[in-house]
Amino acid sequence: MGRTSIWVDLLKLLVSFALLWLGYTYVTPMIPTGWLPAGWWDHDSVTLSIEQEEELGEFLIETFEIQQSEDVSPEVDSALWVIENRLLANLGPTDFEYEFMIIDDPMVNAMTLPGGKIIVYTGLLAVSDTPEEVAAVLAHEIGHAEQRHVVDKIVTELGITFVMAVLTGGDAGLVREITQTVVSNVFSRSQEQEADLFGLELLERSNIDPHALAAFFRKLNREHLSYDAEMEWLMSHPHNNSRIKASLEYKVQEGFKSESFALNWDALKSSL
Ligand SMILES: [Zn+2]
Repeated sequence: MGRTSIWVDLLKLLVSFALLWLGYTYVTPMIPTGWLPAGWWDHDSVTLSIEQEEELGEFLIETFEIQQSEDVSPEVDSALWVIENRLLANLGPTDFEYEFMIIDDPMVNAMTLPGGKIIVYTGLLAVSDTPEEVAAVLAHEIGHAEQRHVVDKIVTELGITFVMAVLTGGDAGLVREITQTVVSNVFSRSQEQEADLFGLELLERSNIDPHALAAFFRKLNREHLSYDAEMEWLMSHPHNNSRIKASLEYKVQEGFKSESFALNWDALKSSL
């Protein structure tokens, strides 16, 4: 084999790669939908059904034995119930059966798992001066759930095949990876904006002053200038100033009237 033929082979290889790339980039999008398995091309779209998403949420809860802490005070329990029900009553049609679980932990955090399962840490209640602030964070989390940001993130980062493998009995390694993705809970800036807007609108529909979100962020900024380990929600929700601005500039419709929660917030705080 002469020297030239090596170069010819190399050139053929390069041409083959170029054709593959061209095919993937330009030809695939022209193939009518339905000809290829769902999600083959559009890696950013959610490709899990609602049922599968719920199954994934259940799976994670079972695997990590996440359950509502038994020793939370009745004040905390009933306050969360009142707040979540006000929001859910005004949510409108939804695919999910929401489930809120409270975990006794000083971390300032709330987290959305697949399938409308929202975990709230008592630390979030401890830093909130009003129930409206808690409602603002929960409305934002409901926004992540409704817009299916969590599964979107899992599928984008790990791939649909991976998720299916977990659902059909994946090994411990697969489960660990999926957990890291879920727990990190860092969404893109546009997803955060979407969840914010959804949350602000939901607050308004629920007769809760949407500016509570700005109040919550401002306080965290003021009182917790350094991001410490317990400030989980703040760490996973950066770009505070632009979000405070958006929340402050949010215009409620004419005739909006806020309805305060009939909750004894001081009693709740001292029960924590
Ligand atoms: Zn968020």
